[in-house]
Amino acid sequence: MSADPGIVIIGASLAGAKAAQALRLDHCYDGPITLVGDEPHLPYQRPALSKGYLLDTTGPGDLDVLKPRFYVDQDVTLALGVPAAALDLDARRARLADGTELPFARVLIATGARPRRLQVPGADLDGVRYLRNRDDSEHLAAALRAAGDVVVIGAGWLGCELAAASRTFGNHTTVIDPLPTPLYPVLGDQVGGLIARRHHDHGVNLLLGDGVEAILGTRSVEAVQTITGRTIPADLVIVGVGATPNTELAQAAGLNVDGGILTDGHLRTSHPAAVAAGDVARHQHPRYLNPVRIEHWDNAAIHGTAAAATMVGKPPAIDHVPYFFSTQYGSTLEYLGLPTTWDRIITRGEHTAHGFTVFWLDRSIPVAALTIDNPGAADHLRTLISTAYPADPRRLADPGTPLPDLLPKAPSRTS
Ligand code: FAD
Repeated sequence: MSADPGIVIIGASLAGAKAAQALRLDHCYDGPITLVGDEPHLPYQRPALSKGYLLDTTGPGDLDVLKPRFYVDQDVTLALGVPAAALDLDARRARLADGTELPFARVLIATGARPRRLQVPGADLDGVRYLRNRDDSEHLAAALRAAGDVVVIGAGWLGCELAAASRTFGNHTTVIDPLPTPLYPVLGDQVGGLIARRHHDHGVNLLLGDGVEAILGTRSVEAVQTITGRTIPADLVIVGVGATPNTELAQAAGLNVDGGILTDGHLRTSHPAAVAAGDVARHQHPRYLNPVRIEHWDNAAIHGTAAAATMVGKPPAIDHVPYFFSTQYGSTLEYLGLPTTWDRIITRGEHTAHGFTVFWLDRSIPVAALTIDNPGAADHLRTLISTAYPADPRRLADPGTPLPDLLPKAPSRTS
């Protein structure tokens, strides 16, 4: 019998499941693996929770990160429905809330994030909802079906998707955000304005540059009062104002935490027994000056796989271009990059047409791109951004120049 106490993974979701998969299938790791999750479900994917699962076009089985058989076939022990309560990293032991003690050689902390709560009067009324997990999505679907007047607070990715879902349910829908356009911090006002137009065209009432003063009602929500004095009737309020990383366990265990669990470029934390991955990790990404915490599906999947490699002593380079996808009104939006500055925006094609793409440039170097309904484009855009070479703005703007032709050419062997 192996003397290896094994690997404990805390957080049975995307990053955690991907790590278990890579440990067994990529690295042939044969020690014990225990996947601990506070939710009762097998690891599932969250993106559909605000899209197909909410709209009942995606079934529960389609959410699985891995086929249920994987855990049996690969001898991965599941401890579901019970949170990890404490970690003693020097003693290499995790304690679960039910008192179970789990020894480990390495622990992966992949505890994700939770919705940031709205701090205004009335925020605790019935009918004020958040969306993070599968149960939230099921309850929200029922609430959207029964609602008439819906107010979405926050015009980030989640708020935009929820507004689109609410319109699909036929609800009168208002979005409130203090910033001038949807997705303003990510896209800026020019491109954010195009997103605003899409929502407007689908009948969403956008109250931008305004905030929430209070949620009104006696027991249940009846209206939302804005800072500028407007009163918007509402029988359902959905809050999408960002997420807070679940760092409490790591912090109590003495790990360095600052807006996420701080890790080096290989997801190693400040203790040699622990690595962190996914939404909870603030990773020293080689493309960026400061550590970044990225709340994207793609990032959590890459992190999970990379964390497995680090735990078996093969720390990989993790230098992916951040990638996010979204679906709104039947269109797929894909965004790549994480720029802090840009000095030029170039659009390619008509924003209403399939294949519309926007490039953000910093000193002629593409640092981010958004593309809409453009299957296959993301790989080219990723390469374009990742090579970080100056690009010809006229060619970027020309839909007649195929995306692969925009990529820098490898130097020829004879030159
Ligand atoms: P999580 O998925 O948050 O999982 C962490 C798990 O750990 C949770 O189950 C949590 O309950 C559990 N946990 C926490 N503390 C403990 C503890 N002490 N003990 C045990 N378990 C614990 N990304 C995209 O790129 N595109 C999208 O369209 C998109 N849509 C999204 C829609 C929604 C509604 C949400 C919520 C997210 C969406 N995302 C999207 C983001 C993406 O789903 C996340 O980046 C990804 O789920 C992060 O995975 P994770 O494993 O790091 O964390």
